Amino acid sequence: MCGVIGILKEENVQYDIALALQSIQHRGQDSCGLATKDKKKFFLEKEDGLVASVFNHKTLADFKGSIGMGHVRYPTMGSAGKVNAQPFFEKQPGIFLTHNGNIINYHDLRKQFLEKSLYLTSSCDVEPVLYVLAEELMKLRQYGHTTEDLAVALKETYKRVRGAFTLVGIMYLDGEDTLFACRDPYGIRPGVWGEQNGNFMVASESVAMEMTGFDYRGDIPHGSLMVFKKDKKPVTIEIDKKEHHPCIFEYIYFARPDSIISGHSVYDTRLVLGRMLADKIKRKGIEVDVVIPVPDTARPSATAIAEELNVPVRDGFIKNRYSGRTFIMPSQYDREFAMRLKHNTIEGEFKDKRVLIVDDSIVRGTTTKHIVSLVGKSQPKELHIGIFSPPVYYPCYYGIDISRQHELIARKYKEYYAEGPDVFEKKMAHFTGADSLTYLDISDVQKSLGQPVCSACFDGHYPLPLREDEQKSIEDDRDEYQKN
Ligand code: SF4
Repeated sequence: MCGVIGILKEENVQYDIALALQSIQHRGQDSCGLATKDKKKFFLEKEDGLVASVFNHKTLADFKGSIGMGHVRYPTMGSAGKVNAQPFFEKQPGIFLTHNGNIINYHDLRKQFLEKSLYLTSSCDVEPVLYVLAEELMKLRQYGHTTEDLAVALKETYKRVRGAFTLVGIMYLDGEDTLFACRDPYGIRPGVWGEQNGNFMVASESVAMEMTGFDYRGDIPHGSLMVFKKDKKPVTIEIDKKEHHPCIFEYIYFARPDSIISGHSVYDTRLVLGRMLADKIKRKGIEVDVVIPVPDTARPSATAIAEELNVPVRDGFIKNRYSGRTFIMPSQYDREFAMRLKHNTIEGEFKDKRVLIVDDSIVRGTTTKHIVSLVGKSQPKELHIGIFSPPVYYPCYYGIDISRQHELIARKYKEYYAEGPDVFEKKMAHFTGADSLTYLDISDVQKSLGQPVCSACFDGHYPLPLREDEQKSIEDDRDEYQKN
């Protein structure tokens, strides 16, 4: 749950990077970082907090360069804070590297480095990736690296580093400053690129391109490296490509609706999911007078549901814009505190009506329960809940912060889950205090993009296999983080 940016243009690249980072701030709010290169000088600044509070005209004036990168971080491996903020830099052969995703064998890599007396300076999982890549490059030659060298070194790196990731890097290749980006073999985490008169940009989401005047060109192909040099055609080299499985949770909840990921509009996908859920609600014979989305993610799906059910969609919740996104608050305490600040209701939209509240997902159950108790005060005649995703029953080890089995509410009701969807939905309705609760079926989610997807947190089929000890090491890492 991070966002990455890389830009290659004429000069003063830092201003575009800061702007682009703000457009993807929803992907991580713990810390941010910005790095640029100007001839032989490297500039790097990382800090706790939001982009707008760290980077302003005064701090940005300290940077120089025509090539650079930025990062917004939500920790899904390692602790919060400046020490783990990205990008990272390795002096030899001079690489800046940043990523979005999770390295699933991070703890193995860390151990291997320690055995060689190579100490890491952080608990951020991109740091060992940087050292592996640097090591593989230095095996090929000490200096004067080429694009071909980078591809060869990355092939070796992919054998040693396993995970769901989009990497963005800067280094001197073929005698010029070069921006590169690559994605994991299954393309689980998103990564797109764009162009503007011979300038290039890579980003986690296409919305960053619109903010900075770049034209979105498409995905960085999964399992592949893309290399960008000023005024030259980008070069794409396959590194290790498997069947593409983009994370469906990006479309359901995480990405901005105005982004395009893997060629699919996030907004349109939410409409599709909404229509599918409306079908199921109709089949269950639930009748309502009004549909009300939980802001903001659920709005497109709620609109589609209302159209299908032929009832109005209304704004029954007013969101405090400055409260942040509860799901991406790192600790349960932060989430509960933020939730109290987050929503208020417009009583008249609920009172004496049969209401369908629509939300994207139920992970820990706290938000849904809170929403139902809030709405209860407005005395609706009936209160139904529609969730346009299936129950989150399995952890995500690929970089979304739902990585601990014991925090998933569906797991807490596993005996009902095992009895089938109807029993489980009734139990969840009872838990939340609603009259009914309807989840989207997994088969609908799997059809929604018209291509294979990663839906492992719903069905337990992990496209990128991981061992039990790797799963445990990620869960332990998150438990440790929550304790501190
Ligand atoms: S397990 Fe779920 S959240 Fe994680 S990458 Fe797959 S679909 Fe996305």
